[in-house]
Amino acid sequence: MAEVAVTEKEYRNLIAGEWVASLGGETYEDRNPADTEELIGRFQSSTREDIQQAVKAAREALPLWAETPAPERGRILHRVAEAVEKQKEELATVLTREEGKTLAESRGEVQRAADIFRFFASLGYLNGETIHSADRDLLLFTFREPLGVVAVITPWNFPIAIPAWKIAPGLISGNTIVFKPAQLTPLIGIRLMEALEQSGIPKGVVNMVSGSGSVIGDELVANPDVDAISFTGSYEVGRRIAQKAAETLKRTQLEMGGKNPLVVLEDADLDKAVDITARGAFGATGQACTATSRAIIVHDILEPFVEKLVERAKGIRIGNGLDSEVQMGPAVNEEQLEKDLEYIQIGRDEGAEVAIGGQRLTDGHHAKGYFVEATVFTDVRAEMRIAQEEIFGPIVGIIEARDFDQAVEIANQTVYGLTACICTRDLERAHLFVRKTNAGVIKVNRPTVGLELQAPFGGMKHSSSETFKEQGKDAIQFYTRLKTAYLGYR
Ligand code: NAP
Ligand code: MG
Repeated sequence: MAEVAVTEKEYRNLIAGEWVASLGGETYEDRNPADTEELIGRFQSSTREDIQQAVKAAREALPLWAETPAPERGRILHRVAEAVEKQKEELATVLTREEGKTLAESRGEVQRAADIFRFFASLGYLNGETIHSADRDLLLFTFREPLGVVAVITPWNFPIAIPAWKIAPGLISGNTIVFKPAQLTPLIGIRLMEALEQSGIPKGVVNMVSGSGSVIGDELVANPDVDAISFTGSYEVGRRIAQKAAETLKRTQLEMGGKNPLVVLEDADLDKAVDITARGAFGATGQACTATSRAIIVHDILEPFVEKLVERAKGIRIGNGLDSEVQMGPAVNEEQLEKDLEYIQIGRDEGAEVAIGGQRLTDGHHAKGYFVEATVFTDVRAEMRIAQEEIFGPIVGIIEARDFDQAVEIANQTVYGLTACICTRDLERAHLFVRKTNAGVIKVNRPTVGLELQAPFGGMKHSSSETFKEQGKDAIQFYTRLKTAYLGYR
């Protein structure tokens, strides 16, 4: 393992197996969003030249890694899973300090990252298929080859799980990686890099460069030595990456925002539906691409539903995620806090009612962080901005629907299509909802948030480029080229 990633809380980039400072010599500060007096560290404000160095290192490491038998690559990935699991408590603390989510949420995410590495490690034993040939003396088969150098660009909200679900399938397929973590969450990314080093990943196979996406992103996307880009983040940035990548015909995979609907029908178990709504809307402080942001409730049960959801939101304990009593952490930074508050004002101006929440918290220990209340809007109409635009905070809007048909219509009335949920005990309408809703993941009686790593994931419409799925065994498709061989043996 290279000596240190850090000197006096100054963390470095990982390029060609060495922890190095940016060639530009600039760094930036990362602070705890629950307590801004706490400095997480100083990180490299990297430049285009740093990206060029990292891409060069990844290119040089490629031939050897691509030729390494996949089961051998898999053994390294298995060790990464073990290393992450062994440090679970420490990594969860880093994640909570840096991103703000509760320790329980962080533990879940760190465990998820370990499980993802384990899952993809085992896929190293599989490759392609044989096909019956019409020619009796011919072996017809397909096989998968690595793409080359893959750029991995990730958001701050799941800063270890998302890098894991891109880097692990990338590596098992024989690619080398240049990873750019979000500016707000570089430290957990560095910890993941260290786990890879401890597990014996060869130098240059994985490289990490921190810094601003608007400064170094274009180089990562335009560099001719980068073969593909896997991106998760906002629609605006994703679209820009797609346009830029088209100039050099790079393969892209873009997973973006959401405005996920949850429908509750009159026959649903109401308490369960409220629980599913609250978990989807307020879990991870609403900062999940899969968060429930529109609750579409049929007329007959609107009143009791609102009453129960308001009660639930009222009881949520908000604070520093390191405190085990706390159920919801802060907004990730000042900008996100401002955005939450701005949308709360927009909702009021549009004529929606704040049934609970709506305020920033600044009393006592809240004074040092970016805390906003769990907020429920009633009297929301489908065309309002708060029902159309991704807010990314603990804010849910309740929209009344006449009946099932209108509920489905409203659910689809969005440019996004990531996840959707219906709460009902009616099998027929559950099936119809699954069929008629334009979203990549549809759930019945389960929250819009929460995914199983062994199942494919990805959105529709503005939520995704709809090129390749992530997670599950389908994830391998993005990271490989499929070849077909006709092997006539006489
Ligand atoms: P973002 O602002 O789009 O940033 C995502 C990543 O792209 C960051 O690393 C960012 O760097 C980088 N970036 C910024 N400008 C770039 C450019 N011109 N070229 C290349 N890269 C660039 O998203 P975010 O605010 O971090 O995350 C929130 C968004 O992610 C939400 O829209 C959410 O729905 C979405 N999300 C989607 C999924 C999914 O699976 N569908 C999962 C999680 C989150 P900086 O950090 O330096 O800005
Ligand atoms: Mg952003």
